[in-house]
Amino acid sequence: MAGIYVHIPFCLQKCTYCDFASFPKEIGRQESYFACLYREMKGRGEQLKDYTFDTVYFGGGTPSLANPEYIAGALRQIRKCFSLRGEAEITLEVNPATIDKKKVEIYKEIGINRYSIGLQTGYDEEQKRLNRPHTAKDFLVTCNLLKGENKSADILIGLHDQTKEQLLKTIDLALAGEVNHISMYALTPEVGTPIYSDYLNGLLPDSDEVADLYDAGRKYLKEKGFHRYEVSNFAKKGFESRHNLNYWKRGEYIGFGVAASSFIGERRFTNTFKFDEYINAVILNKFPEISSDEISEEDKKFEFIMLALRTEDGLNVNEFNVKTGGDFFRDYAEALKARANVLDVSPYSVKIKEDYMYVQNEIILSFMK
Ligand code: SF4
Repeated sequence: MAGIYVHIPFCLQKCTYCDFASFPKEIGRQESYFACLYREMKGRGEQLKDYTFDTVYFGGGTPSLANPEYIAGALRQIRKCFSLRGEAEITLEVNPATIDKKKVEIYKEIGINRYSIGLQTGYDEEQKRLNRPHTAKDFLVTCNLLKGENKSADILIGLHDQTKEQLLKTIDLALAGEVNHISMYALTPEVGTPIYSDYLNGLLPDSDEVADLYDAGRKYLKEKGFHRYEVSNFAKKGFESRHNLNYWKRGEYIGFGVAASSFIGERRFTNTFKFDEYINAVILNKFPEISSDEISEEDKKFEFIMLALRTEDGLNVNEFNVKTGGDFFRDYAEALKARANVLDVSPYSVKIKEDYMYVQNEIILSFMK
């Protein structure tokens, strides 16, 4: 399985916690940006002619803010330059209050079949504090425009004075929008973002409080029929994100656009995070990569373990042995013994026990050599 990621770096304004490649000031330069995306895709077409892609993901930024005709152009170019499976999952990230009926018609016409909506919180006051320009009502209007479509909502935990009741009400709002997938991420206050000073001033919940919020959220989602298929991702059966599952299965993917990263043939590479640098490189017919790493045999094994243990299915021992040339039970006997209390081990698979999933990062470190 292989995926295509396309980064659309336009937003109306910068959220206080945002550390992503998004450039509110560059919104007037969509035409040049998309022209570069098309050119970058063409450049990779020949290199990847033997691949068949199963998913396309337009992420951002706010892809729904872009002119939908440019999104249509990007999909046309993808279909022209690459082999895309007929039943491919094609996701578009949407922020509330950035779409209308006309845009939705175009999205449907071009084959977008999944929408990931940035709700984050159901509280308008909190949206304002995060510098997000929409409300709970906007979210419901957006969901209504996408009625009957395959929808997901992103929500945040670890917000200012967030209580369990507030989190559950945010989940209720997402459910009222008829989503069948929810990504519940813990807010990470990155150095240099405005919210970082709130973190330093103790205005955000501490890690124990965030863990309690997470626990309340995942139990509530379970009651509502959403199973956790990855530490931060919950879905009704059959609505798991194929694009993200590919990442966790260590599948290959190619990324286009500013800050996009790729994993092809055991090489991980990343495009520049700078808007002008991206445009200038592509105009000069260069790939806009700023880093490239060949994965060593040891790193390959660790990546496999790290990604697989994030998921509900855990690590498939036979797959690990076949794909990495290792012998899982022999190579990791010590780590398995040290972590026996938090792992479910069978001859075929290794999983983190349900109640310990949230601290998977710490458990996974035991497998590092
Ligand atoms: S919508 Fe997303 S990408 Fe845009 S500023 Fe907010 S957090 Fe950043």
